[in-house]
Amino acid sequence: MKALVFDGTPRVEELPAPEPGPGEALVRVLSAGVCNTDLEICRGYMDFHGVLGHEFVGLVEKTPTRALEGKRVVGEINCVCHRCEWCRMEMFHHCAARTVLGIAGRPGAFAEYLTLPEENLHPVPGNIRDDVAVFTEPLAAAFRILEQVPVGPADRVVVLGDGKLGQLCAQVLATRTRNLVCAGRHRWKLDLLAARGVAVCLEDEPVAPGADLVVEATGRPEGLARALELVRPEGTLVLKSTVAETIPLASVLAVVNEIRIVGSRCGPFRPALAALAAGEVEVRPMITEAYDLAEGVTALARARDPGVMKVLLRM
Ligand SMILES: [Zn+2]
Ligand SMILES: [Zn+2]
Repeated sequence: MKALVFDGTPRVEELPAPEPGPGEALVRVLSAGVCNTDLEICRGYMDFHGVLGHEFVGLVEKTPTRALEGKRVVGEINCVCHRCEWCRMEMFHHCAARTVLGIAGRPGAFAEYLTLPEENLHPVPGNIRDDVAVFTEPLAAAFRILEQVPVGPADRVVVLGDGKLGQLCAQVLATRTRNLVCAGRHRWKLDLLAARGVAVCLEDEPVAPGADLVVEATGRPEGLARALELVRPEGTLVLKSTVAETIPLASVLAVVNEIRIVGSRCGPFRPALAALAAGEVEVRPMITEAYDLAEGVTALARARDPGVMKVLLRM
């Protein structure tokens, strides 16, 4: 099979198709999305070498129980042991022995085939197109915020960052409060959100401080400092960006204002699929370009361009 591999540089290679291990399914990948995490991996994040990619939709070719065979699925990316201390506490995303699709210890989705534990797979409702289903994983990450922080209609929320993740976070949080603004650097990206009825502003425009919740999704070191200025005393700051470099933290502001800083990673697939099926979250305007897997290196380079949003690979 063809696969987009990173081993210091990204390249498309011919590899043997993977063999599913015990409890695992073999999935034929239909389409996959390039995520900032993939770009960060190419800069050294997680020290990962192998097949890239973790956002996908595919067709199940074989499973141990045969339950999902022939079905279109998306898949949770953390593959867990069910035995360690964190698994026993049902904190599966933090499994001490986990592998993560295309990120840690497991080949990813930028390939014609992948394997995942059958328990990780979710069937995709028929009305969700392939290109849209690819957004389930990052949308689930946005829904993770609602599992971590209660958000009510009176809460004032600021989302920093108009990239893919920032837009998904803003759309999810806008289902809970109308008192929300998303600040970003790119007018054309903000316009996509504004078309969904979400309030937006450019990064250099003033935003009133005192927000109950600030979500940092800029992927840049300055984002954290701005977030600390905007959150109210005893408010919550959610960190969503995964970046390769270490970001300095003006910790005195966080201490004096007693800010709750919440790291936030992977989230629940069910509400993400439900929101996509119901059209509560709109992702299609975020799709800029699609490439064949054979052009995967070009696709990665394009995804780095600030003039594009989601780049898809079609297998
Ligand atoms: Zn991702
Ligand atoms: Zn575990």
